[in-house]
Amino acid sequence: MVCMEAVTRHYRVGGQTIAALDGVSFAVPRGQFTAIVGPSGSGKSTLLNMLGCLDRPDSGRYLLEGVDVSTFDDERASDFRNRRIGFVFQSFHLLPRLSVLENAMLPARFLRGPDPGLAARAHALLDRMGLGRHLRHRPGQLSGGQMQRVAIARALLMTPALLLADEPTGNLDSRSAADVLALLDEVHAQGQTVVLVTHDAEVAARAQRQVGIRDGRIEFDSASA
Ligand code: ADP
Repeated sequence: MVCMEAVTRHYRVGGQTIAALDGVSFAVPRGQFTAIVGPSGSGKSTLLNMLGCLDRPDSGRYLLEGVDVSTFDDERASDFRNRRIGFVFQSFHLLPRLSVLENAMLPARFLRGPDPGLAARAHALLDRMGLGRHLRHRPGQLSGGQMQRVAIARALLMTPALLLADEPTGNLDSRSAADVLALLDEVHAQGQTVVLVTHDAEVAARAQRQVGIRDGRIEFDSASA
């Protein structure tokens, strides 16, 4: 599903070069739930941006579903991202003026043609997230846990190949966090490939596999332990 080969990403700051990713190779099979863990500054966000086609490697290759996405220009990358990758962020990234249903439907707005099945799918996903009675509410009328569930519904709308979650429970109280993690477990149990980034060992322990990153390199991988 995911295959990274010797991916590097350097930043030039002042006269210095920082290797945010320094030859990262790893693969994620379809249906696996992987957690990427590491301290602040270790390269987690850079890796997640790469996995999400928000950034391109300076060298190395990234294949998603067998497609070499590292060669895509911006337009192809954003189209591919909209169709094949779902994102869940720490701060939810919902649009405050749109309703819950409209937020969940956002990826549909970027399609070239209409896809009439998506409205029904958004409804079904929001029902599954326990939000069936909140479709017309604005995000501001919801709790943090509910907002994150809207974001998960939105991330799943297009039936993505890969669901990426960046500290998805970082802004939640422990009960809502447990709820959201249970939902991610459920989504994974139904076959979704999930990659989650966290610095929280308890959150990471929910995953099937843990990949540790430090100084832009993979430090450990429970799959090869
Ligand atoms: P993490 O998500 O684990 O905190 P990051 O991927 O954000 O780590 O950062 C990895 C390294 O790359 C850090 O040293 C960081 O300072 C550097 N870095 C990340 N983004 C940029 C950027 N846009 N410009 C310069 N340096 C960056």
